[in-house]
Amino acid sequence: MVDCIFCKIIKGEVPNYTVYEDESVLAFLDIFPHAKGHAVVIPKKHVETYFDLSEDGLVQLSVGVKKTMEKIQTVLKPDGFNVGWNQKPAGGQVVPHLHIHIFPRFEGDGGGSMHSIIKKWEGDVKEIAQKFNTSA
Ligand code: 5GP
Ligand code: ZN
Repeated sequence: MVDCIFCKIIKGEVPNYTVYEDESVLAFLDIFPHAKGHAVVIPKKHVETYFDLSEDGLVQLSVGVKKTMEKIQTVLKPDGFNVGWNQKPAGGQVVPHLHIHIFPRFEGDGGGSMHSIIKKWEGDVKEIAQKFNTSA
């Protein structure tokens, strides 16, 4: 996609610090890191969200995430990771090219868990379960 910053990175029109690359994915250091070694893994095919990538593409992306984590583990030796993505503006997505964030985590780094993204929802779980036609 012409105006997509991540497509420009894939094409080599914008420089990046590559951490891992194969024929389907590219992983590079985030320019505004939230953690030491914060990286993003992107499919080389331009898609906006997780819904838009084929199942084969998702498998390749998942393998790319694992390989990138292994590389980070070897180089930076973090104590843990948070891995995930922001989907659509409501979920915090700014760049409309699917990217999986990898946050290496270190004991005492002061960060939270996934649960700190959004505070507890106060509604009724049972009511939601009914929408899925499921019961405990
Ligand atoms: P989002 O909020 O869309 O999930 O995250 C987009 C991420 O891409 C941000 O963390 C931002 O720092 C990163 N980013 C945006 N533009 C560039 C760029 O040109 N190079 C790199 N390496 N990262 C970028
Ligand atoms: Zn793109």
